Amino acid sequence: MSKTITKIAMKGVLQPGEVALVGAGPGDPELLTIKALRFIEQAEVAIYDRLVSDEIMALLPDRCEKYYVGKKQAKHCVPQDGINQMLSDQALLGKRVLRLKGGDPFVFGRGGEEVEHLLAQGVSCHVAPGITAASACTTYAGIPLTHRGVAQGCTFITGHLQNDGQLDLPWQSLSSSSQTVVFYMGINSLPTIAKELMAHGRGANTPAALIRNGTRDNQEVYRGTLATLAELVELHNIKPPALIVIGDVVEQFEPQQVGKLGYFNATKQQVQQQAI
Ligand code: SAH
Repeated sequence: MSKTITKIAMKGVLQPGEVALVGAGPGDPELLTIKALRFIEQAEVAIYDRLVSDEIMALLPDRCEKYYVGKKQAKHCVPQDGINQMLSDQALLGKRVLRLKGGDPFVFGRGGEEVEHLLAQGVSCHVAPGITAASACTTYAGIPLTHRGVAQGCTFITGHLQNDGQLDLPWQSLSSSSQTVVFYMGINSLPTIAKELMAHGRGANTPAALIRNGTRDNQEVYRGTLATLAELVELHNIKPPALIVIGDVVEQFEPQQVGKLGYFNATKQQVQQQAI
C-alpha cells in the first residue's frame, strides 16, 4: 500500500471468528475502497460471487482458501441457505472470513439476509459498502445519474422476475420523466419493462442505454430510446450482467465527448468556444 494510504487509520480489523461482508464494486479494481482492500488482505477464507472480477480475486492473500458460490440468473450454484451456512460454519471454526460480493452488499446483494443469519448464529460481522453498479457503470459510460434541470432524482430497481414470472413494479412512479431509472437484473424482462413504462406515460423517445460489463476492459455501452431498447438487446445479443438506464441524462454528453471508463474528452469545438 502507498505511503499516503497508511496515513488513514485502520478501523476495520477482522478478528478470528468474524465475517467481513465486503462490496467489491462492479469490476474495476481501482474502484475498491481502501477498507475493502484492507479486509481482502486480512482474509483467511474468501466466499465470493460471480460478479467479483478476476483482478480483485488476484488481490487475495496466497494462503487464503477460496470458495465460489456464484449464481447465474435463477440457477444458483450454492443456494442462499447454503451460503449462509458456509459463512457461519467457517466463522465458528475461528477463521477470518471474507464474504466478497459484487457492487454493494446491501444493494440487491442479499447482504442483509447474510447479516441476519450470522447474528442469529452468534457471529459478529463487518459490512464494507462498495460502489454499486448503477453508480459506477453510468459514470464510466458518460452518464450523470442526476443533472440539474434534467433529472432531479434516480431510482435503482430490480427487473428480476418473481417466482411466478411476474414483474410487479410501481410503474406509475417509475414513469415520471424527471427521474433516471436504473434497472438491475432486467435484461430478460426488458420487453415488459419498456412496454409498461410507455403504457404508463414515459415517452417512447426517452433516451435509454444498456451497459454490459460496466467498468471492465470489455465494457459495452449501447444507446437508444425506450422504444428501441429491446431491439438493441437482440441485435447485440446482450446477456447479463447488464444494466438498463432510462432518462434524459443518457444524452447529457455527446458521444464524442465520452471516452472510455470515466474519461471525458474535450472536443476542439468546446475549447474554441471557451477561448472566445
Ligand atoms: N450488489 C450488486 C448488484 C447485484 S445484482 C451491486 O451493488 O452492484 C446483479 C446485477 O447487477 C446484474 O444483473 C446487473 O444488472 C448489475 N451489475 C453488476 N455488475 C455489473 C457490471 N459490471 N456491469 C453491468 N451491470 C452490472
